[in-house]
Amino acid sequence: MLRYKLVVVGGGSGGCSVAAKFTRKLGKGQVAVIEPAEKHYYQPMWTMVGGGMKTVEQSARPMKDVLPAQADWIRERAVAFDPKSNKVTTSSGDEVTYEYLVVAMGIQINWDAIKGLKEALDTPGVCSNYSPKYAPKTFEELKAFREGNAIFTFPNTPIKCPGAPQKILYIADQYLRKAGKRDKATLIYNTSLPVLFGVKKYAESLWKVVEDRGIVVNNRRCLTEVRPDTREAVFVDLDRPEHQFMEKYELLHVTPNMSAPDVLKACPALTDAAGYVDVDKHTLQHNRHPNVFAIGDCSSVPTSKTAAAVAAECGVLGKNLWSVMSGGQCTASYDGYTSCPLVTGYSKCILAEFKFDGVPLETFPIDQGKERWAPFVMKKELMPFLYWQLMLKGYWNGPKVIRKALHLGMSD
Ligand code: FAD
Repeated sequence: MLRYKLVVVGGGSGGCSVAAKFTRKLGKGQVAVIEPAEKHYYQPMWTMVGGGMKTVEQSARPMKDVLPAQADWIRERAVAFDPKSNKVTTSSGDEVTYEYLVVAMGIQINWDAIKGLKEALDTPGVCSNYSPKYAPKTFEELKAFREGNAIFTFPNTPIKCPGAPQKILYIADQYLRKAGKRDKATLIYNTSLPVLFGVKKYAESLWKVVEDRGIVVNNRRCLTEVRPDTREAVFVDLDRPEHQFMEKYELLHVTPNMSAPDVLKACPALTDAAGYVDVDKHTLQHNRHPNVFAIGDCSSVPTSKTAAAVAAECGVLGKNLWSVMSGGQCTASYDGYTSCPLVTGYSKCILAEFKFDGVPLETFPIDQGKERWAPFVMKKELMPFLYWQLMLKGYWNGPKVIRKALHLGMSD
């Protein structure tokens, strides 16, 4: 039986950042990270990969290079949790016990949930930026596009980075214009949501973008089946579920269904009804097990699931977990800060930043609802640097300090 002061499950954005913070505090042999993947991906870059602006290799690093050297890396999957006995079982059957646990397993992608999708991804015309395998194919499909419908989907489940399904839509529009093929394409955004974006301010800006560019937006339409042989996509009208209809595609960019990881769903003692780790949305401490915390996409925190949210959560979790370890209380409070750089092409971006309940919380004292060049450069060049050099080492807790300074202390 392995024993650690702190066990972190998942070595993605959240797990790696938390492990780095606490390895510095606790020293060698005190922190273990359970993580099966050999590669760590900077997933926000996959949007740029799909648009041909970066390669998938640029989004990857060997896991051994990003996990803190002083932490023990257990290269296995967590297969069961037992919070009453402070124990996690790994895929080899080993039991790892902890004094404190941070769950950072991300969200699970369910490629099987849409009939025919898994097979269709290996056929012409179908792609998805939600996988390192298929994000490069998005750009190949854009280059190969001749004429017809280019359809982009948003599923009927929570997803990570809810802006990403439409970022690639705008990039595709700009690519096809540059290639002189835009007049041969009908661009269609079929989203399960009743709105274009969850925050009114940015939704208004985005409606202007789709209207200016002649993009068709259909709300409450959910992809249920892909038929690659005939290049047909089947959708259901979520307001009239008996109403199914088919659309032909030349290009189909699918955002797959997602859910809480199965291993969490199998442990109701840790989760809410949907299977996400049941934590207090301000302290990130578990509602029933005070020695357990969660960060990022696998948590029940009701904010948009992004790496930007993870960064801000990491600062709060770092303070609260350290306080609890030292016999104190959770005093730091997460405000729901999250951000979505809504890339609208090859040089512009609307930088959405907001907190709980979709209230804008912008870093810069300008109207961030406008398409601008500077946030695009920030997204493409500065953010990857920040991610690899600061965030994964536990030094980036979001832009709060910068925001306060730029607003002369008059912002949250
Ligand atoms: P992840 O980083 O996904 O890490 C989860 C880790 O858990 C993985 O390493 C996984 O291998 C591991 N794991 C899973 N199951 C187990 C198990 N059973 N046992 C042990 N380990 C396990 N965010 C932004 O802020 N801005 C953006 O512009 C943006 N764009 C995006 C575009 C795309 C196409 C995608 C896919 C994501 C984007 N995101 C963006 C979202 C961002 O990448 C995620 O929100 C963020 O990575 C979440 O971090 P996490 O630590 O919760 O999960």
